[in-house]
Amino acid sequence: MNFGTRDHLDEKNGHLTIGGADVIDLTQEYGTPLYVIDEGRIRSNYRRFAAAFPDADIYYAAKANGNLAVLRVLAQEGAGADVFSDGELYAALLAGILPDRILFNGNSKTDAELRMACETGVRVSVDSLEELKNLSRIASEDNKEVEIAFRVNPDVSPATHPKIATGLAQSKFGIPHDKVLACYEEALSLEGVRPVGIHCHIGSQILELSPFAEMMIRMMDLVEGLKNKLKLELDFVDIGSGLGIPYTGTAPTPIDLANTVLPIFFERASALGIRPKLVLEPGRYIVGDTSLLLCTVNTVKEAYSTFVGVDAGFNLLLRPTMYDSYHEVIVANKLDKTSDHTYTIAGPICESGDILARDRRLPRVEKGDLIAVLDTGAYGFAMSSQYNGRTRASEVLVNEGEAELIRARESYGDLLMGQNIPPRLL
Ligand SMILES: *Cc1c(COP(=O)(O)O)cnc(C)c1O
Repeated sequence: MNFGTRDHLDEKNGHLTIGGADVIDLTQEYGTPLYVIDEGRIRSNYRRFAAAFPDADIYYAAKANGNLAVLRVLAQEGAGADVFSDGELYAALLAGILPDRILFNGNSKTDAELRMACETGVRVSVDSLEELKNLSRIASEDNKEVEIAFRVNPDVSPATHPKIATGLAQSKFGIPHDKVLACYEEALSLEGVRPVGIHCHIGSQILELSPFAEMMIRMMDLVEGLKNKLKLELDFVDIGSGLGIPYTGTAPTPIDLANTVLPIFFERASALGIRPKLVLEPGRYIVGDTSLLLCTVNTVKEAYSTFVGVDAGFNLLLRPTMYDSYHEVIVANKLDKTSDHTYTIAGPICESGDILARDRRLPRVEKGDLIAVLDTGAYGFAMSSQYNGRTRASEVLVNEGEAELIRARESYGDLLMGQNIPPRLL
């Protein structure tokens, strides 16, 4: 079996292993559906990314996988965090990520979220002029001064799925790049806010390098404008992330990304005589390939296709349905068998879009077999739901062959949590 760049996966006695643990043993102990995350792989991905950008700060994008144990591992590695909500901020702080290494993002933050940012002392990426004024008012009421960046819409178009392109002119994120200087000018005149950075993020699962170069040039044009027109020297330039991973085929590496953006960044900064910090916000690259979703085969049906019905669907892995994304699948208990059949892997949800993988060559599949869906660490569990009355799966963290439960399987009580029947209906 060829696992590509996934050094944490292997085969033993015809079984798939992750981080040295046999997945059949894991499902016997924890049941299915089950998310399995390899801790060593999170650490090595983080270190590989950080090593490519030795002078930069790395803010992990918490939305990719917000499990507390994952955040804790990354806090130990020295990561900061990019958070997009009050809940993500709460979890990042609880996991031990320092407030001065957290950037609070979002295109529609509530007043309560802005107040929480002021109170916890994190920086805020401001998405509009109206939000700027609102934050200034809230911070001033609290006698605080918040360090801010503006989220820029750089208008570059990465070749990725339209639902995950965030830097197009028509995108809901950020301030059009030609209006950004006016926002800084306004910020300099307001109390309670201090502009110290600039921020953008052009999309996700980007497999080409040229959009990153285009973005870096545009960001440095703005940095130059701020220095020359407003005499404002920024402390940091945050270029987000979006580096894709090889779900299939190949992908650029963090080194490729560094070779693309760093020369532009350093040349332009030194021409201006400034030394801002570069910040990056990888999510998918850090956690994407670290995890498997394990599911059990309930039925095999000959119909238009040969459908393999498993116990996990878009309730636990939305990406194939939402983004038409490709995930490798493996019959985890039959790695020593020849792939001589074609199957479509279907989830149990009452929607015809609930297909995990189409027309895959696999060994003969029977009821009771274990299907492993690969590369489910980013935007997997994080996007899960209880749709169709399905409890969410448990998650285990594997460390050098040993597994620990980091999220318990939900109960019927969890499904109904917070609901009540008004007494008049009793
Ligand atoms: C989602 C997001 C990221 C992470 O993107 P990846 O493609 O997972 O690396 C970084 N920054 C911001 C602002 C985001 O919204």
